[in-house]
Amino acid sequence: MAVMITQSCINCNACIDECPATAIESVDTSPRTDWEYTYVRPEKCIECVDGAVPKCADACPTEGCIVWDMPYTAEHEEYFVGNSAYVIRETKKKGLMTPTVSPQPWREAIDMTARSAHVSVGETLKLYN
Ligand code: SF4
Ligand code: SF4
Repeated sequence: MAVMITQSCINCNACIDECPATAIESVDTSPRTDWEYTYVRPEKCIECVDGAVPKCADACPTEGCIVWDMPYTAEHEEYFVGNSAYVIRETKKKGLMTPTVSPQPWREAIDMTARSAHVSVGETLKLYN
């Protein structure tokens, strides 16, 4: 990841079409069958690094719903792989799209302390606005 959607999500789906990486899945398409909320695929999220703010958080009407997660990079392989909070996509060509196989861009302005504490993306917008 990336960013993560929490249980305060009201499943309004406003974030889905905003995502430039098609990383967000509705409840109906989510690979997480144990999760009743909209889901971000960490292996696809690019943290909207080319924009001013993460577009999903900008569109979300629920304060604090979208939070920071760890960067999807090889350093965090153990965090993502085998973690029941994520269902990592598998492709015929590359197999499981783990952080080592398919690392994603991330915002260095957001430090690891904020990420591991799952700080709200909205709270940190001032860091990169
Ligand atoms: S941060 Fe950007 S790329 Fe990641 S899920 Fe949100 S909109 Fe998509
Ligand atoms: S915009 Fe916010 S509340 Fe609506 S589905 Fe996305 S994360 Fe959930």
